[in-house]
Amino acid sequence: YFIEQDQFDGQTVIIHGDDARHITKVMRGKAGDKLIVSDGVSREAMVQITHIEASQVQAEVVEWLPMDHEPRVSVTIAQSLPKGDKMELVIQKCTEIGAVGFIPFLSERTIVQYDAKKEGKRLERWRKIAKEAAEQSHRNRIPAVYESRSWKELLASFDSYDLVCYCYEKENGLQLRDVIKPLAAGLSADESASVLVVVGPEGGFTTGEVQAAETAGARSVGLGKRILRAETAGMVALTCILYETDE
Ligand code: SAM
Repeated sequence: YFIEQDQFDGQTVIIHGDDARHITKVMRGKAGDKLIVSDGVSREAMVQITHIEASQVQAEVVEWLPMDHEPRVSVTIAQSLPKGDKMELVIQKCTEIGAVGFIPFLSERTIVQYDAKKEGKRLERWRKIAKEAAEQSHRNRIPAVYESRSWKELLASFDSYDLVCYCYEKENGLQLRDVIKPLAAGLSADESASVLVVVGPEGGFTTGEVQAAETAGARSVGLGKRILRAETAGMVALTCILYETDE
């Protein structure tokens, strides 16, 4: 369970809200049961429940745990908003695989209409999905889900990353592995790097967008000879990057 930093009080942990309800109602937790809790920043521990109520669970630290489940290359997925609930699938699966963040964005061929009124609720849901997937997959941190950006705002953020991989399917072009292998080879054991993976909408990117991305510093890369669905491309790129760079 991910808890707030102030819920760790020395050796004692107080869990409330949805997590407490989950422990009592879904997990049928009882005094003596052990759980893993993390503040998502610097502390993670195996704790034992000492006192349990429907709305609050108190536990004592049994063992402090190392926070070593995060990949050393931080991959953020920028995803042109896909149709229906596909963004939820992207967030859930890429959190399990190891992404550190998600940036939904709007490009020329994005089919979904942006609705500012719905953005708050949607973000709340996406962040809940990221938290639950991070708990399920024993991540040390919950990936960030950022507010939707315009294409221009996304381009302006390219400078914040060591490498920007722009997924663009083209025959015989540069492939993702061609840029990731040198990145992995250049990293010493204790070094890390940040990579932004940019994935287009169902209808792909326009040539104008491809040029603008390259001008803004992105490397345009292919993910093999088959065309992947918009929701699959980020998962594939992330898996390949972590395969090459994770210890
Ligand atoms: N018909 C579209 C086109 O020709 O551009 C296909 C778009 S694809 C369904 C959605 C997005 O997934 C693309 O914009 C791209 O970012 C990514 N993608 C899918 N397959 C890819 C591949 N083989 N190489 C690189 N990117 C790929």
